[in-house]
Amino acid sequence: MSTIIYSSPIFGPVHSRRLGISLGINLLPADGKVCTFDCIYCECGFNSDHRPTLPMPTRQQVAQRLEAKLQEMQQEGTLPDVLTFAGNGEPTCHPHFAEIIGDTLQLRDRYCPQAKVCVLSNSTMIHRQEVHDALMLVDDNILKLDTVDPAYINKVDRPNAAYDVRAIIERMKAFQGHIIIQTMFMRGDSVDNTGEEFVEPWLEAVKSIGPQQVMVYTIDRETPAQGLEKASREQLDAIRDRVIAAGIPCTASY
Ligand code: SF4
Repeated sequence: MSTIIYSSPIFGPVHSRRLGISLGINLLPADGKVCTFDCIYCECGFNSDHRPTLPMPTRQQVAQRLEAKLQEMQQEGTLPDVLTFAGNGEPTCHPHFAEIIGDTLQLRDRYCPQAKVCVLSNSTMIHRQEVHDALMLVDDNILKLDTVDPAYINKVDRPNAAYDVRAIIERMKAFQGHIIIQTMFMRGDSVDNTGEEFVEPWLEAVKSIGPQQVMVYTIDRETPAQGLEKASREQLDAIRDRVIAAGIPCTASY
């Protein structure tokens, strides 16, 4: 099994046709994973296999390393199109997440004002007011909602503390449309969220949240759990088309 542990606090840049040049910001330790979920499909592996020994980077380290990298990219004439908070776990776990977002927006405005700031989060910390307020400031607030079924969540996303999906949905509504919902569709041993009994209630929840966009995707890399299967292109296209029919822009990645 090969999983990915990203360097910290800056990784990349990664060049993609869809995003352009994306510079990664990883607020988790450089030698392991910290997440409030332990998804069986996580590209970083299971939490227990990657316990970090190093601390999270400090706010000052993140700002210094980001500025140095942006200066380097400026000299090379390859400034990023997007600054993406992702990496070895859940970025909003960082105790100074909100301040780091503020620093990052300032650096973005100084070095690459055309670039978007994007956060990929599993939504577990959005009940914290400072996290909510910081996410309101970023360009792309991408929040995970794999299903509304608690049993599936417990088997697949595996929260490591009490998790109430109904409360999460209510907090998602509080973004008043400033939210992109990201959903992983897949099949595995005794789990499958591609069937109608999962898609329909998920779609109703999505409509009630009213996001600016939805991203549906499936497994793309090796997973720590064995026996997981991709959702088919046809299934993802059908789900995407139902979201679009509800008036919400949606993309599918296979
Ligand atoms: S929320 Fe993301 S980082 Fe955390 S376990 Fe799931 S896939 Fe991995």
